[in-house]
Amino acid sequence: MKEYDVVIVGGGINGCGLLRDLALNGVKTLLVDKGDFSSQTSQGSSKMLHGGIRYLETFDFGLVQEALEEKNLWLKLTPHLCFEREFYLPLYRYSKYAPWMLQAGLFLYDFLSHFQNRPHAMLDAEETMRTLPSIDPKGLKGAGKYFDGIVDDAKLSLECLYDALLEPQVDALSYHEVISTTKTSEGYNVTIQDRTKTKLETVKAKYIVFTTGPFSDKLLPSLGIPWTPQLMPSKGIHLWLKEGSISVKGSVVLTTKDNRVVFVIPQRGAILVGTTETEVDQEIFDIKASQKEIDYLLLVLQQYFPNSNLNIDSIISTFAGVRPLAREEGSQHSLGKVSRHHKIYRPTSHSYVMIGGKYTTFRKMTQELAREIVPRLGLRYKPNLTLNPLRQHSIMPTFGKQPKLTLDMVKNIIATEKVTTFDDLVMRRLSLLEHPSTIKDVMGIPADQIKALFQNL
Ligand SMILES: Cc1cc2nc3c(=O)[nH]c(=O)nc-3n(C[C@H](O)[C@H](O)[C@H](O)COP(=O)(O)OP(=O)(O)OC[C@H]3O[C@@H](n4cnc5c(N)ncnc54)[C@H](O)[C@@H]3O)c2cc1C
Repeated sequence: MKEYDVVIVGGGINGCGLLRDLALNGVKTLLVDKGDFSSQTSQGSSKMLHGGIRYLETFDFGLVQEALEEKNLWLKLTPHLCFEREFYLPLYRYSKYAPWMLQAGLFLYDFLSHFQNRPHAMLDAEETMRTLPSIDPKGLKGAGKYFDGIVDDAKLSLECLYDALLEPQVDALSYHEVISTTKTSEGYNVTIQDRTKTKLETVKAKYIVFTTGPFSDKLLPSLGIPWTPQLMPSKGIHLWLKEGSISVKGSVVLTTKDNRVVFVIPQRGAILVGTTETEVDQEIFDIKASQKEIDYLLLVLQQYFPNSNLNIDSIISTFAGVRPLAREEGSQHSLGKVSRHHKIYRPTSHSYVMIGGKYTTFRKMTQELAREIVPRLGLRYKPNLTLNPLRQHSIMPTFGKQPKLTLDMVKNIIATEKVTTFDDLVMRRLSLLEHPSTIKDVMGIPADQIKALFQNL
C-alpha cells in the first residue's frame, strides 16, 4: 500500500494551492480529483483577482485588505496569467450612493491596498459616455473608476499544480474519486476509484484534507467523516459574449434594481458577463447555466446598454459555478452578502476540511492549513516559499499574442501539463471560449485529429 503524509481530496485552486505549499515544505502528498483538475468552481469564477469592493458595504475591511494584498502579489508573481484593468461603477440619479460616498469608498479601497492599486478617479457623465458609449445615458450622473485584476482562474490552479509536481515526493491523479475512508490509529486509509470504475486503490495517509468546496456537505458524511452541513451554496452563471456586442472600453460593475452585482469585463477578445446569486436545487457537479438565468443576464444588459447590438446570437458560451460559502450562525444575510471568509474544520484528529473564502485569497487560506499540518509531521513550516514565482508555465498563453498551434505542441501539452481529456485541453490549456462539444477546429487543427490523440490515454 502506498503511503503519504497527506492526501488532499479536491483539485481546485484550494487543493492545488495547498499541494504546492506542502510540496515546497517537503511533505509527501497526493492530490486526487474526481474530474479534471480545476474543472469545477475554480474555472467558473468571475476571473477577478480583487479585494471585493462590495464587501466594503459590510465593513469587511480585513478581508478586503488581505485580498488586495494577494491580488497585488499575484499581479507581480504571475504577469503571464493576470493583468490589472480599470473597472467603472456608473452612478445614476436613482443609485443608492451619492458621488461623494462612492469616492470615499474608492479612496478606502486604494488605502486598504496600501496604495498599491492604480489610483481611483471620478468621471462626469460626459466622460463616462465616452468610455462606455453604449451605456444608458438616462439619469447618468457619472462613474467611479478603480482597478482590479483579471486572471485565468483555471490556469493559475494548474500552474500551482505543475509547480508542486516538480518536487519528487508529490503525486496528483485526476479522474480519481475518493469513495471511502477508514480511520486507523495512524491516520486514514483512503480508497480511490479510477474513471473506468474498475480499478480501486487504497493508500495510507497520516492526514486527509478535503478541499472539495461546494461538494463537501454531500461528500463528507458519505465517507464517514463526522460532519454537519456547513455550506450556503450559491449558484452563479456567466456568459461569454462576442466582442462588440456591447461597446465598452473598460469593465463595468452594475448594481441591478434587485440589488445584484453584474460585471461586464472585456478580455480574451470577448466580453465576460456575470454573475447571478441563486440558491441551488440541482446536482452541482458540472453544473450548467439555466435558460432562465441566461435570460435574466441578457435582460439586465439590455436595460443598462440599450444602444448595444445584443441578442441571443451574441453568446459564445455560458458557464456556471457554485460558491462554497460558509454558513454563519444566525446569519440572515442574502447570498450576495454572506461573508467570503473561509473556515477550517478538524472533524477528527487526522482530518481537515477547508471551505469558503475567495479565489483571490487561496494562498493565505491554504497557508493557514499548511502551517497547522507541517509541524505535526515533524517538519518546520517555511511560510515564504509560496512567494517564489511559479516554475512551470503553460505552453499556450491565455493573454496577449498566442503562437500558432501545431500538433507537436498539442502532444507536448498533453505530455507535460497533466491533460486527461479533449475538453480539458481546449477549455483549460488552450483557454478556448466555445463549448468543447461545438468545436470543429482547434486553432487551425481539425478537432478530430486532436481527439484521436486521447484515444490511447
Ligand atoms: C460564480 C462565481 C464567481 C466567483 N468569482 C470569483 C472572483 O471573481 N474572484 C474570487 O476571488 N473568487 C471568486 N469566486 C470564488 C472562487 O471561485 C471559489 O472560492 C474557489 O474557486 C473555490 O475553490 P475550491 O478549490 O474550494 O473548489 P473547487 O474548485 O470546486 O474544487 C473542488 C474539487 O473537489 C473535487 N471533488 C469533489 N468530490 C470529490 C471526490 N469524491 N473525490 C475527489 N475529488 C472530488 C471536484 O471535482 C472539484 O474539482 C467565485 C465563485 C463563483 C461560484
